[in-house]
Amino acid sequence: VEGPGPGGLVRPRLTVVSGPSGVGKSSVLAELRRLRPDVFFSVSVTTRAPRPGEVDGVHYHFVDRDTFHRMLAAGELLEHAEYAGNLYGTPRRPVEETLAAGTPAVLEIELQGARQVRRAMPEAQLVMLAPPSWEALVDRLAGRGTEDSEVVRRRLDVAREELAAAEEFDAVVVNTDVRAAAAELLTLVVGPGPGGAAR
Ligand code: 5GP
Repeated sequence: VEGPGPGGLVRPRLTVVSGPSGVGKSSVLAELRRLRPDVFFSVSVTTRAPRPGEVDGVHYHFVDRDTFHRMLAAGELLEHAEYAGNLYGTPRRPVEETLAAGTPAVLEIELQGARQVRRAMPEAQLVMLAPPSWEALVDRLAGRGTEDSEVVRRRLDVAREELAAAEEFDAVVVNTDVRAAAAELLTLVVGPGPGGAAR
């Protein structure tokens, strides 16, 4: 996880968290946010409609396709992908400014986007959040009840592909318990020791 830098050891400052829909990314990241409010969490733009309870500018910036394509053409997105029929992208500037200030940044994005970040920023750390079992994932996705069965089926197809890509990742965190997974992820994001996870 750590590599040599000019002044000795440097920690990766950009962590990409990927994992199939339904694995519990939002819960784990919410817990991480609670533990370390000083870490920067990127807010993506998406053309998807808000789910009940989602707030524009907090969970996502909800935009129409024209706006998304305009941002893309203007080079404002660090990475982007189409996922289950909707477009998602990471606004570039907040991430760059955060990293320039020396603050750890976390992106929660899907596999295609993670691969783009890996190419653009080889120093980024890629973490896969995985379910304890395939059955657990199916239960969670079907049980969420916010999407129809066709959407669930498409998301399960994508999930299978995403899990198969685990070997491209620097670390895999299994989400058996939200708090334990958040603690493990935190160590990866900020590193162990003073000023790190145990702070
Ligand atoms: P959801 O619609 O369930 O919120 O997100 C669907 C998928 O899109 C999830 O796997 C999520 O990680 C991913 N996603 C969210 N924001 C971005 C983004 O900015 N870029 C990419 N590539 N994927 C994203």
